[in-house]
Amino acid sequence: MARVYNFSAGPSMLPEDVLKRAAAEMTEYGSAGMSVMEMSHRSPAFEEIIQGAEATLRELMHIPDNYKVLFLQGGASSQFAMVPLNLMKGSKKADFVITGQWAKKAASEAEKFGTVNRVASSADKTFSYIPKLDPATFDKEADFFHITLNNTIYGTRYTTLPDTGNVPLVADISSIVLSEPIDVSKFGLLYAGAQKNMGPAGVTVVIIREDLITGAIEGTPTMFDYKIHADNGSMYNTPPTYAIYICKLVFEWLKNLGGVEAMYEINKKKAAILYDFLDQSKLFTGTVVPEDRSLMNVPFVCPTEELNAQFIKEAKAAGFVNLKGHRTVGGMRASIYNAMPVEGVEKLVAFMRDFEAKNS
Ligand SMILES: *Cc1c(COP(=O)(O)O)cnc(C)c1O
Repeated sequence: MARVYNFSAGPSMLPEDVLKRAAAEMTEYGSAGMSVMEMSHRSPAFEEIIQGAEATLRELMHIPDNYKVLFLQGGASSQFAMVPLNLMKGSKKADFVITGQWAKKAASEAEKFGTVNRVASSADKTFSYIPKLDPATFDKEADFFHITLNNTIYGTRYTTLPDTGNVPLVADISSIVLSEPIDVSKFGLLYAGAQKNMGPAGVTVVIIREDLITGAIEGTPTMFDYKIHADNGSMYNTPPTYAIYICKLVFEWLKNLGGVEAMYEINKKKAAILYDFLDQSKLFTGTVVPEDRSLMNVPFVCPTEELNAQFIKEAKAAGFVNLKGHRTVGGMRASIYNAMPVEGVEKLVAFMRDFEAKNS
């Protein structure tokens, strides 16, 4: 059977070239005589892999020298706890913008360790927009200010960043990382689970400004302390070696393609193909206000539940899979991460056009 067009929100599709290269190197990596999965994380071959991954990521994201890159485990969800455990050390207060399930979870987790101020929320309209923020409502004493830069479930994204002054801006970039340029210097900390746009599940990347690495609050488990991981080059314990290796291949693939800037142009093109179709369609409707639309996750609905279900079923049969929307939004969601080729989006839209002609 041929590979399908996989619109999964995560874990999501990987570039076919990367999978082929990994397959070719599966049993014997270079001259190591073994698979990457079988080698010591302290071996020179793996040292080269993790250092290569970091160097290419730094190059792709233009990460300044005063930031550390950490390869951790536990998913973005562990960062919901790790961020407050390491940063809530001053006023023990933090500001959060509630733009969806992930932001909500991050805020509730932080509440276990301090006081959370929910600056704004778009819950009133099922998170279909990014709230306008008024800096007068920000807490100047907060230890950090948290946003979810792209909301995977609802398909919204920030196009301007809040001005938090001296309060470190922290962002969950799980579903936007490497899809468009991000000015790292504007943030104190960025984190992303790999399985949306970087590689397989199992590795979480944290990019943290060095002055924020001062040790976690008392009683924090060793594994949840950024300083431990930073001091040990992400090798305090066994890192997720194979996942890091695949990320390295993805980073190299992206670099060969022209880097994040070139990818951004392609991503804008892909998103425009889908949104332009949705905007003129009489059957399908996008669920997000146009100015806050995500380039990565595109939710849309048909007028009835029956049509939604029929569309998802027929699309799957035609080779367009994982288009079912999140249970809190219903309808459909097409996740069009970096690895989704333009052709995949064009074919999906052709299929939607055809479906519309038959059903309206
Ligand atoms: C997927 C996702 C998460 C959860 O990631 P895990 O790695 O499963 O913990 C958190 N935040 C965002 C924005 C996501 O897209």
